[in-house]
Amino acid sequence: MKKYFWIIGILIIIVFLSIPIFHILKTKWNEREISIEIPKGYTNDASQLNLTKIDTIIQVPTDKKEIEIQLKKAFKYAKENNLKISIAGARHSMGGHTIYPNGMVLNMLPYKQMELDTINNILTIGSGALWEDALKYLNKYGKSISIMQAFSSFSIGGSISVNGHGWQKDLPPISSSVISFTLMKGNGEIITCSRQENQELFKLVIGGYGLFGVVLDIKLKVVENEALQYKYIRLSPDNYVKYYKKYISENPNVNLVFGRLRISNKHFLEEATLNFFEKVDAAIPILQNGKSTETQRLVFRGSVNSEYGKRLRWDLETGMNKVFKNEIYSRNELLSDHVSLIENKDTSSTDLLQEYFIPERNFNQFISDMKPILRNSKIDLLNITIRGVHQDNDSYLNYARENVFGFVILFNQKKTYKQEAEMKKLTSQLVEVALKNEGTFYLPYRLHIDKDKMRKSYPNADTFFQLKLKYDPTELFNNKFYEHYK
Ligand SMILES: Cc1cc2nc3c(=O)[nH]c(=O)nc-3n(C[C@H](O)[C@H](O)[C@H](O)COP(=O)(O)OP(=O)(O)OC[C@H]3O[C@@H](n4cnc5c(N)ncnc54)[C@H](O)[C@@H]3O)c2cc1C
Repeated sequence: MKKYFWIIGILIIIVFLSIPIFHILKTKWNEREISIEIPKGYTNDASQLNLTKIDTIIQVPTDKKEIEIQLKKAFKYAKENNLKISIAGARHSMGGHTIYPNGMVLNMLPYKQMELDTINNILTIGSGALWEDALKYLNKYGKSISIMQAFSSFSIGGSISVNGHGWQKDLPPISSSVISFTLMKGNGEIITCSRQENQELFKLVIGGYGLFGVVLDIKLKVVENEALQYKYIRLSPDNYVKYYKKYISENPNVNLVFGRLRISNKHFLEEATLNFFEKVDAAIPILQNGKSTETQRLVFRGSVNSEYGKRLRWDLETGMNKVFKNEIYSRNELLSDHVSLIENKDTSSTDLLQEYFIPERNFNQFISDMKPILRNSKIDLLNITIRGVHQDNDSYLNYARENVFGFVILFNQKKTYKQEAEMKKLTSQLVEVALKNEGTFYLPYRLHIDKDKMRKSYPNADTFFQLKLKYDPTELFNNKFYEHYK
């Protein structure tokens, strides 16, 4: 009899372990490795919902002297042919911010030279360089990027033009790490913009979505690459702000941090994790390139339209947090994550991001206000990450006018008119609750928000657009973002 109990026990364990493995394998089998080709003469962005016919794409040269000559020629051609110019980096903005119908697109990615001033810790970098290029370069000198997004797949020019932010502890967005940049204006003149020179343009271009000219070379403050030890706390979202203060803000050793909310129907927004990395006196691990993240990606993709997958992901991630607690990483490794970590290979759907910045005093109210909206929506919610962003005193279109928490929300949307309409409704509702809680929404995403609500979030939008006309009266630099909100 005892023998049978053992066999049944072992069978139960096998079944128990094989369900998640089967779920992950099924996710892999269901993926068809078909990439969508962009037809010749068209362009698109990371949303995959902005396929647009354009006149020309110009690949800018790598060389400093050549780029000046080529851009001047391109501006001349555009003016003679009555064309608009849009500027593209890694094109991860999602509302046609890099696109103007029938216009010229400048692909800035080839322009990526860099040079480090090791005495003053200043990196001078071409605007087309990606953060991953910069991290690899700085790693050789024991340095790291001061402020950037959570992934390293974005261009520096694009990141400045959206004024991104990431895992950095209690710091303002990227703007605060920018010392100066050069800008080619529509008349071909190149000027330097900083807090001392051309201050107005400095403020307008940072978070200015490519509407004032082409950013060429950027000077950024850099910091030391360091050994960081992983720590994590599992907590109720109700205690998030209290624990954030105690474990993050009041701990001078914390260097990078992010939070996550549970999004499975079970315990929906009722559990959170606070993940942080503390500076330790230890050898800095060597930066490794090309580590496989496929299992992590499949666990993430397995959560799409699957309550089981969402629970599995939460359980695996919180389980892995325990395993990796106290593990030591280099700061550069942590900042080197690539967007392929979450890549969607299903061509009938797309992943869309949104972000809301909420003052600390309304943190809990915002969660409770967005809860029924997210629950009732037919759009599939994939992830909510939380970041602390400190007040930004530099950019004109400023989303962090005081210290805020950013709620970064990722959805999966089918590429249908019905889901597009659902998403529009959902976005409008979320913006309403952000405004109710004295917050703002982030501008690089889909253009589902009307002009009126945009101005409530960005009260100086009208003067921003007036200043656009002061510096670029013929609207040479143009894109769908400008056409939508101006
Ligand atoms: C998966 C994913 C994750 C993201 N994570 C974050 C995050 O953690 N934090 C965050 O803040 N944002 C995040 N974003 C939002 C945002 O879209 C990116 O920060 C952004 O796209 C920046 O870089 P890019 O090179 O892709 O810019 P692009 O999308 O190419 O361009 C963005 C804007 O900058 C302008 N621009 C680009 N280069 C220049 C130049 N040289 N001169 C003048 N204007 C220029 C463009 O015209 C456009 O208006 C994320 C987006 C995605 C899709």
